[in-house]
Amino acid sequence: MISENLLKEATGLLSDYLKIDTTNPPGNEEAGAVFLKSVLERDGFPAVIYQSAHGRSNLLARLKGDGSKGSLLLLHHIDVVGAVEKDWKYSPFSGAVQEGSIWGRGALDCKGLGIMQLMAFVLLKRERVPLKRDIIYLAVADEEVGGEYGAGWMTKRYPEEVKADFCLNEGGMGAIGMLGKGRKLYSLGFGEKGVMWLKVRARGKAGHGSMPHRENANDRLVRALTQILGHETPIQIGGGMREAFREFGQGSISKSLLIRLLVNEPVLNLFRKRLKAYPKINAILRNTMSLTNLRAGFKENVIPSESEAVLDCRLLPDTDPREFLSWVRGLVKDEMVEIEIIKEARSSRSPLKTEFFQAISEVVKTNTPGVDILPMVAAGFTDSRFFRELGSVAYGLIPAFYHPEEIEAMHGVDERITVESLGLGTKNIYDIIKKLNEQS
Ligand SMILES: [Zn+2]
Repeated sequence: MISENLLKEATGLLSDYLKIDTTNPPGNEEAGAVFLKSVLERDGFPAVIYQSAHGRSNLLARLKGDGSKGSLLLLHHIDVVGAVEKDWKYSPFSGAVQEGSIWGRGALDCKGLGIMQLMAFVLLKRERVPLKRDIIYLAVADEEVGGEYGAGWMTKRYPEEVKADFCLNEGGMGAIGMLGKGRKLYSLGFGEKGVMWLKVRARGKAGHGSMPHRENANDRLVRALTQILGHETPIQIGGGMREAFREFGQGSISKSLLIRLLVNEPVLNLFRKRLKAYPKINAILRNTMSLTNLRAGFKENVIPSESEAVLDCRLLPDTDPREFLSWVRGLVKDEMVEIEIIKEARSSRSPLKTEFFQAISEVVKTNTPGVDILPMVAAGFTDSRFFRELGSVAYGLIPAFYHPEEIEAMHGVDERITVESLGLGTKNIYDIIKKLNEQS
């Protein structure tokens, strides 16, 4: 573990960071960036703030290596999702240090990671570790709303500044007790599903509700949605997940019954319907569609001429988005129903056979003997996709452990991180950087 003094310092910093309200929208990441800049400057780091819009800021600092090895980017986002104060045990922006934990919106997602990275970053400088790699510390705005003012903006405007060989971001974490009492598991995100939002629009003829006719747009929409959602997408252990489980799973999990079952498509397909009862598992094993929006009709006695729905579709990395779209269109047998894409983000994934994965797995296994590591494709997306586009190998891992109820609190109430986890995460990140530095 890290020393008492360092742990105290990290705890204080996270508590202060959590007191800054960076709820997005509107974001106000400027205040967070200024805070991080002041901390970095205390240790003699020149940090640069990049403002993407009024009040929206990103922060970057760099520790130079000798250039003999590729660079590493430590990435987190400054913004957080909203919180309803009255539901919380300690106010969401109090930064309360109570019951062995630090409480506040962002403790887990993602300010906790930001402070672990910050501590590891300044420690390297304080201890004058000679580095082969440049280490870049980057805090971005706007992750929770899609990254337009944060990672998307930085990678587009300043690709040379933020480009790195490796990127450590959120998107995976340690869990205690998920596989059995006291057992510890790290899920490491090496890929993310793609997003395709579809608008389904039905057209018809307006009329009076007292006189039903066959061209009611609402009837058409309901029929089309029934046709689409009535189809089960097949189970696919795609996106490199089968190889990931088999070849890169570490610890006893790679030989476990659960994994043997998870890589067996025919067996899983037998349980296809039942798997839906486990949304988290279901979501990573198939392309999914959620009906999220309906806009139909405006008056009780008027048949509308148009109605619309939105389907939030999430696609596995192996799925061709065009093929998926034509499959959905093919399910609807009505010329008066149109389906169009309103937002799209490609899936992304990084290879696992890398020095980076090796360094991470060696370090976390040394610091937590017996830990299992499971590489995963995440159902949601993070900023990693922007950096993969620039060519980085990006992994999602907050390298500390959380109990199931602490994981539930992410985007929920009473978000917190134990002081112990903050210390372990800091040590892991520091050791990973050192290990990457030692590789020949
Ligand atoms: Zn996040």
